[in-house]
Amino acid sequence: MSPASCAAIRGRAITFRANPFEVPPSDSLLVEDDALIVMKDGRISAFGAYDVVKAALPEGVTPVHYKDCLISAGFIDTHVHYPQLPVIAAWGEQLLEWLETYVFPAEAAFADEAVARDMAKHFLAELMRCGTTTAAVYCTSHPQSVEAFFAEAERLGARMIAGKVLMDRNAPDALRDTVQRGYDESSALIDRWHGKGRQLYAVTPRFAITSTPEQLEAAGDLLRRDASIFMQTHLAENLTEVDAVRRLFPDRRSYLDVYDHAGLVRPRSVFGHAIHVEEAELCRCHETGAALSHCPSSNLFLGSGAFRLFDALDSKRPVRVGLGSDVGAGTSLSQLRTMGEAYKVAQMTGRRLHAAQALWLATAGAARSLELDDRIGVIAPGMEADLCVLDPHATPLLQYRASHCESLEDLLFALTILGDDRCIRATWVGGACVHNLERDGGQ
Ligand SMILES: [Zn+2]
Repeated sequence: MSPASCAAIRGRAITFRANPFEVPPSDSLLVEDDALIVMKDGRISAFGAYDVVKAALPEGVTPVHYKDCLISAGFIDTHVHYPQLPVIAAWGEQLLEWLETYVFPAEAAFADEAVARDMAKHFLAELMRCGTTTAAVYCTSHPQSVEAFFAEAERLGARMIAGKVLMDRNAPDALRDTVQRGYDESSALIDRWHGKGRQLYAVTPRFAITSTPEQLEAAGDLLRRDASIFMQTHLAENLTEVDAVRRLFPDRRSYLDVYDHAGLVRPRSVFGHAIHVEEAELCRCHETGAALSHCPSSNLFLGSGAFRLFDALDSKRPVRVGLGSDVGAGTSLSQLRTMGEAYKVAQMTGRRLHAAQALWLATAGAARSLELDDRIGVIAPGMEADLCVLDPHATPLLQYRASHCESLEDLLFALTILGDDRCIRATWVGGACVHNLERDGGQ
C-alpha cells in the first residue's frame, strides 16, 4: 500500500476498555453499534460513532460497510509452527512420539527453500483467512525457512514474530544444528529481520530436550544483545517430557529453572503450554513478565492435559497469557475455534470462561503478553490498523442460533463455540484489506 493510503470501514465494533479478568467481563467491553474506523498510513486515525467520526473522513474515501457483522482487532496467535501445516490432524501419538513420527520428517523438507516459500505463502494466507493478523511462529532449524516466512509476511505488511528453531541434540541429523551454527544463523537473521518493517525476531530453542545447556546459554547471549528480541519455547506440555527434562538437567529446580538459568525467562519470552508447572514457576513468570501461551486444541488433541488458566491469571500474582493454535498439534488455525476449546478446557478445571475473556485472550491480552499492546490488540486511534470482521450469521446453524441471542455477549459466545474461518468476512492488515470472503471465496 502507498504511504499516503487511506481507507475506512463501518459496522458494529467490539473492543476492550479494560482487562475482563480484572473487572466484570461485561464492563471490560467497548461496543460501538454503528462505528466508523478510519485508517491512514497503516494506523487507525479515527474511531467512534459513525455520526461523529464521519466528519474526519477524508474526501473521496467511501467506507466499506459491513452490515450485521462485528469488527474486532485482528486476532493474535501466540504459538504456532508454520512448517507443521502438512501434518495437522496426524493420528495416534502423544507429544514425543508425535514429534518423531510426523513433525521431524515434515520439518526436514524445509532444507529446500522452494518448499519453505510455498508453505509460508499458504500458511500466511490461511492465517489471514482466519482473521489472525499477528502470530508468534516457529520456523524450522533451516535459516531459509525463516527467510521465506519473513519475506512473505513483509510482502503482506503483517506484524509477525518468528525465529529459527535451535536443536543441537535428540533430533535427526538433518535438523540438528550446533551451538555455534545456531548462534551464528540466529544472529544473522536478527540483523536482517528484527525491526525490519513490521517483522520481529524470536530466539527459538524448540525445548529443553533438544538443546544442550550450552545451546540454551547461547540463546541467552543472543537475547542479552537487545531487550526487544523475543524468545519462544515449550514448557511442561506432557508428563513424559517433564520427566525427561528432569533427567537431562538434574541440577535445576524445575523445568522453568532450566530456561531461567540460561537467561531465557524475561519480558517478551513466551512459553508454550505450561500445563504441568508448579506454583513457584508461575510466581517466577509473574515476577519476570514472561508470558504463557495457552494452546487448548493442541492439548486436547495430544492428550497433554488441561492448562489451569485461572490459576495462571490469579490476581495475587497474575501471569501474562495469550492463546495459541499450536498447529500442527493444534487442530485449527482459527482463533474462534481456539477460544471455544479454551472454554471447554476451563470447564474441565471447573471454571467458566466468559466470551469477553476469551476474546481478550485472543486480542488485547495476547498483545499484552507479547508487550505489543502499545501497537496492536485493540481498536483505538494510533493503533496499527489490523482488524478482522466477524460474520455471526455465516452458517445456517449460526444464523439460527443468532436469532435466539438475547445479548451481544450471548452472540459472541455462540460465535466462539460454533464459529471458525467461515465467520471471517474480511481481514485488514496495516489498513489494507488482505482477505475478503465475498471476493476471495473459500479459497
Ligand atoms: Zn508448539
